[in-house]
Amino acid sequence: MPKMEHCTYTGKEISIHEALKIKADRGQSSSKLGFLCIGCNCLVRAHRSLVKGGPKPHFEHFKINPDCPLF
Ligand SMILES: [Zn+2]
Repeated sequence: MPKMEHCTYTGKEISIHEALKIKADRGQSSSKLGFLCIGCNCLVRAHRSLVKGGPKPHFEHFKINPDCPLF
């Protein structure tokens, strides 16, 4: 499964790092901010990396979409 490192936000493509910064600045959850999957336009959640050496920051679908090319 490819890791998603970009999403659409207010009509433009942003990286996971920008998304996490927006999230931190706004203090809102991903669902409220409306990050969208580039592949299917579904809501995605921005994940920080919680552990050093663990998974890199990435986006994940709120609901798994088997039709999405990035799923
Ligand atoms: Zn998708």
